Amino acid sequence: MKQQFLVFTDMDGTLLDHHTYSHRPAQAALNALKTLKIPVIPNTSKTFDEMKVLREQVGLEGPFIVENGAAIHIPHGFFSRKPANTQWINNHWVRQFSSRRSHWLSLITRLKKDFPNAFTHFSNMTIEEICEATGLEPQEAKRAANRHYGEPILWLGTEHQKKNFIEMIVAMGAKPLIGGRFLHISGECDKGGALRWLCNEFNRQYPDYQCTSVALGDGQNDIAMLDAADIAVRIKSPSNDFPPLKRTEHVYDSVAEGPQGWSDSLEQLLNLTL
Ligand SMILES: [Mg+2]
Repeated sequence: MKQQFLVFTDMDGTLLDHHTYSHRPAQAALNALKTLKIPVIPNTSKTFDEMKVLREQVGLEGPFIVENGAAIHIPHGFFSRKPANTQWINNHWVRQFSSRRSHWLSLITRLKKDFPNAFTHFSNMTIEEICEATGLEPQEAKRAANRHYGEPILWLGTEHQKKNFIEMIVAMGAKPLIGGRFLHISGECDKGGALRWLCNEFNRQYPDYQCTSVALGDGQNDIAMLDAADIAVRIKSPSNDFPPLKRTEHVYDSVAEGPQGWSDSLEQLLNLTL
């Protein structure tokens, strides 16, 4: 059986520099992977709109996973046949793992009367308010705000109220994720489940190949992806320690931070000539 590597990567702090958002130090490795026909698959908390811009900047043409594992977008032609359980949306085959945003918004609306003035959320905020809360520029904020599978909540009330809110929304079937100033309300999906699905689909479509997944990430929301991959690479971060994993085998830690660590790790693991 032939071996096919699939590289799954977080974006911010991993392929993109934590401070400058540049991928430059990884450019030579990206070129080498393209020559070897090894797909680099972004696996990110970002939205489809954000990834549309970023993929062009970085020069990636393959599948990508958005909103923390909520959906995989697969360009036509990546597989020879239609991927299982996908729909044709925005020019891609899309496999969805979460309910749509409208579902989560209806749960949030039902809880509003129990938590008066304790929170606001993206769809209630103006672009100016989102810019102020996130530090994004207006164009970036628009792309970040166009979420399809979840809703970021900005908590204004007490920690005690927040704890009660989380308990209630979990009982309603949501999975809240605490990230920075926001509480992300979405479904029971993560970056690991999306990775597993794509590898299984690859093995189903190409039975002559055995897919080997390599995952690279720097943060807490990468843990499920790093635990699910055949090979895990933890990228050094200037803002946090290496995320703790359940596994110990086939785990590598980069020495350099961000895209330089990304490049160095893949150069060694995959014997790239840079
Ligand atoms: Mg990150």
